[in-house]
Formats: sequence, structure tokens, C-alpha cells
Amino acid sequence: MNVLIVYAHPEPRSLNGALKDLAVRHLTARGHEVRVSDLYAMGWKAVADGADFLSHDSGERLTYVRASKDAFADGSQSPDIAAEQKQLLWADAVIFQFPLWWFSMPAILKGWIDRVYAYGFAYGVGVHEGERWGDRYGEGSLTGRRAMLSVTMGGRAPHYSDRGVNGALDDLLFPIQHGILFYPGMDVLPPFAAYQVDRLSEEQWPSVAESFKARMDGLFTDTPIPFRRQNGGHYDSQQVLKSGLGHGASGTRIHLVQPNEPEQLPVPLR
Ligand SMILES: Cc1cc2nc3c(=O)[nH]c(=O)nc-3n(C[C@H](O)[C@H](O)[C@H](O)COP(=O)(O)OP(=O)(O)OC[C@H]3O[C@@H](n4cnc5c(N)ncnc54)[C@H](O)[C@@H]3O)c2cc1C
Repeated sequence: MNVLIVYAHPEPRSLNGALKDLAVRHLTARGHEVRVSDLYAMGWKAVADGADFLSHDSGERLTYVRASKDAFADGSQSPDIAAEQKQLLWADAVIFQFPLWWFSMPAILKGWIDRVYAYGFAYGVGVHEGERWGDRYGEGSLTGRRAMLSVTMGGRAPHYSDRGVNGALDDLLFPIQHGILFYPGMDVLPPFAAYQVDRLSEEQWPSVAESFKARMDGLFTDTPIPFRRQNGGHYDSQQVLKSGLGHGASGTRIHLVQPNEPEQLPVPLR
């Protein structure tokens, strides 16, 4: 299978660099083909602006969404954007390797998403008409692919538990896992999370490495997070969860199919 690692860390000898290298070695040894988008090494341009569109006239007012739509449709996107879209389409699974910086991804990775996720590629896909809100949340250009976050954190695990002061990790990662990965159709695996890593010693590394290897081994077999599919019959015409669903859940967890609920519900014919 084809695995793309999108890697965001400025220092090759970092812990994140070691995890990325381990993933490349381990997955390659298992017979997978692995490619890495090493954003710092590539000098990835993190800011979205008019230079992303070859035919944009810098004197004209920029409407990024419209420019993105036009450039994706007529092939006039900046070549670095088009190349990363190709990488995503090549991949059967995508691993995002990054340190948690201010409760989110490093800016260079956010800038990769902002620019690579073009209109017509990651959003604005499918029919938008009446009560149909396009192909998103479980359907889209990246359907059939798996995605997994591999995140290192300075904070301790209890701080990221349900009642932890930082907020639950699943909640903090919801905008990425649901809003960025599930949105264009990928199946999202639970994250690989390494806590309190600033104090990690060389002696502790082997146990982190073993846990990570186990997750690599489950990349194509582990059960994805059971996010509800937008067009799976769970939401009403205004994309609000239907009454009768989600009881016992609150916050972002309401968007997970609950154990007593079917994955697919009848969708009214239009
Ligand atoms: C701007 C910023 C914002 C941050 N925000 C948050 C936040 O919101 N929440 C939070 O929890 N944390 C936060 N942090 C902390 C951050 O998440 C950690 O510093 C980061 O995850 C550490 O990963 P690293 O790859 O940079 O580790 P490194 O600094 O490279 O390594 C960490 C430790 O691992 C050791 N190590 C053991 N084995 C190896 C090996 N094989 N290879 C390399 N190193 C090894 C190193 O010796 C070192 O002691 C933030 C840090 C910054 C700089």
C-alpha cells in the first residue's frame, strides 16, 4: 500500500524526526511504499495568498475561495500545491507527524492544509442543492484513504484526560480529525499520542518506538473513529443531528455513532 507522511518539524534530529524515520523504516520493511512531505525541508510556503494562483493579477482584489476554485478547475494552481494534491491522491494512508504547538498543529502544517485543500479538491465537492450539502464528512475526493495523527506533547496524559485542565485530547484534535481529515472523506484512526516528551530519556525511547510500530502495523486494519457521515441519514436537512440520536453523548462526541445506533439510516429520496 502507499503511505504518505506529512511531517512538520524544523529539526531532523528531533523526536518527531525519529518517529518519522521509524515510520519510514518500519512501513517500508512491511512492504509498503512510503513518501514523505517534509515541510520544513521543502521550504513549504505556509501563507495562503494570491501567489498560489498563476493567473491571479496582483492588482485585483483576491477572493481566495473563488481563485482556488478557478485555479483548481483550469490547472493554474501554483505547482507546489498541485504536487501535494497528487501525493494525497497517490496515498492509501496519510500519517501526519507533528508536535502539538499551542494545542494545534505547527503553522507550517496548517499552511499546507490551507493551500493544498483547494476548492473542488477538498471542499466544494459534489452536489450542493436544496438539502444536499455536497460530498463531505465521510465522502469526498479522499474517500477510501486512511489518516492518522501522530502527535507529541509536552503536557502529561492526565492533563489531556476527560476532566484534565487542558481539555480532552479528542476534543482538541476534533477540528483536525473531523474538520480536516474526515471532511474530504478519509477514515480517521485514533491518534498516536506521546505525552510529556520534553522529559523523554533515551532509555524511554524504545517503549515509545514499540507502541508506534504497533500502530503502524494496524494502519490498514485498526477501526477508524466512528464519526457520523453527513449523508448517512443522521442529520436533518439543516445538518443538525436528528432528535433521537446521540443520547448520552455531549460536546463533540455527539458526532460519533453511538454503540446502539446504526452506521447508516434511511435517507429520504429527493
Ligand atoms: C511553540 C510551542 C508550543 C507548544 N505548545 C504545546 C501545547 O500546546 N501543549 C503541549 O502539551 N506541549 C506544547 N509544547 C511542547 C511540545 O509539544 C514539545 O516540545 C514537542 O512535542 C517535543 O517534540 P520534539 O520532536 O520537538 O522533541 P525533542 O525536543 O526533539 O525531543 C524531546 C526529548 O526526547 C528525547 N529523545 C528520546 N529519544 C529520542 C530519539 N530517538 N530521537 C530524538 N529525541 C529523543 C530528547 O533527548 C529530548 O529530551 C509546545 C512547544 C512549543 C515550542
